[in-house]
Amino acid sequence: MGVVTLEDVDRQIGNGFRLLRFAPAIEAAFLRDYAANRVKLAAIWAVIGTLIYDMVFFGDATMMADVFSELVVVRFGIFTPFALFSVLALRRWPTAGNYDLLAIAVALLGVLLPMSVAVYSHSQYLFVYQNGNVAAFLFFVIALRPRFPTIVIGLVLMCTVQFTTTKLNGSFDDVTYTGIVTFYITLAIFLAMSAYFMERTDRLNFLHQLRGGLLHAQLERKSERDELTGLLNRHSLARIRDSIWREERATGSVAVIMLDIDRFKLFNDVHGHIEGDDCIRAVCQCILREVASAGETFRFGGEEILVLMINAGRDEAQAIAERTRAAIESLGIQHRGLGDGHVVTASLGVAHGKPSEWSLDDLLKGADAALYDAKRNGRNTVSMFHGRSGESFQGIRSDDGAGASTLLAG
Ligand code: GH3
Ligand code: MG
Ligand code: MG
Repeated sequence: MGVVTLEDVDRQIGNGFRLLRFAPAIEAAFLRDYAANRVKLAAIWAVIGTLIYDMVFFGDATMMADVFSELVVVRFGIFTPFALFSVLALRRWPTAGNYDLLAIAVALLGVLLPMSVAVYSHSQYLFVYQNGNVAAFLFFVIALRPRFPTIVIGLVLMCTVQFTTTKLNGSFDDVTYTGIVTFYITLAIFLAMSAYFMERTDRLNFLHQLRGGLLHAQLERKSERDELTGLLNRHSLARIRDSIWREERATGSVAVIMLDIDRFKLFNDVHGHIEGDDCIRAVCQCILREVASAGETFRFGGEEILVLMINAGRDEAQAIAERTRAAIESLGIQHRGLGDGHVVTASLGVAHGKPSEWSLDDLLKGADAALYDAKRNGRNTVSMFHGRSGESFQGIRSDDGAGASTLLAG
């Protein structure tokens, strides 16, 4: 099944669809929507249509007394069970093709059954009686509303049945017969034309609806991601924090790794900002590869990356941080600002704790403090946060005053 993109939809709207057909992937989406909508209404139309159809029983009795018993058989013995079978079949196999096929079958039988009985009638009311088939034409096009080609085929077949059976009955002179033919052909042309325009409108509405949905999804994706690196942004961090802390998704502890590229200002000064951007991108891809499914990776600041790991132990977080540090160094991105042979490296700070005891801000401050340690210890290293007393986050809790709870807000 092809994936439809916003560009595909825009192209389709721009190119138009004169033959009432979209490009394959959009057509497939349209047909799924079409089938779902039609099948939803099929049961209602089957009940209403069959009820009205069966109520013509009274017309049969008064207008077609000479073939009444045969009409009862075709109405209740053939048409009604077939209409019910059609609804059940559609529920079982709800495709656009099946819907159209059954719509034609129902409409055609609706005309064919009473008219083939009426061939043998000598009723003086036959002219009025056969006009009742206008209702079947309208029901087929306006209520069942299959696709345009189906409607054209259906109308041609219904007209053929109408004209043949009326002719075979032989009750009408040529002028009356010509009048009947003219009337049904005019009706069929008007119905076919209106069906064409109705389907055009339906299809255009579908395209705009699809475009709206895709645009919305794209905006949502963009609002969650950083443009330069494709990593999640801080807006998503707030959302994920809420889902972890409010919904208590984490049963174990949560680990955060804060990473900052070493001497990056100098890198920019020497290599320029364009190369600086390339370097940030390469480092981020490297981090994504190393973290893989172990956590979510965010661009926290300029060249500061945050990894959030749910239900991760301290040792696991430390191991991933160390692996990431080594992988970034192994990228071998030259840092000429530091001298020949020097490569880009990063420093990492790791903190972890139970969400029931520590807020994300607490953990971020812990990781930040550890990162600061890593920088002080000569960079290109991983530092674990143990708290100032060596065992807790005391001293950097968010309710501690100046600078508190600002890490996530930026
Ligand atoms: P340290 O080792 O202490 O981290 O030194 P540093 O020079 O890396 O210091 P700091 O982390 O404060 O510097 C961040 C620099 O990153 C400042 C800015 O020029 C650069 N930077 C931030 N965002 C971007 C970006 O999107 N593209 C580029 N090219 N540079 C950026
Ligand atoms: Mg920085
Ligand atoms: Mg830096």
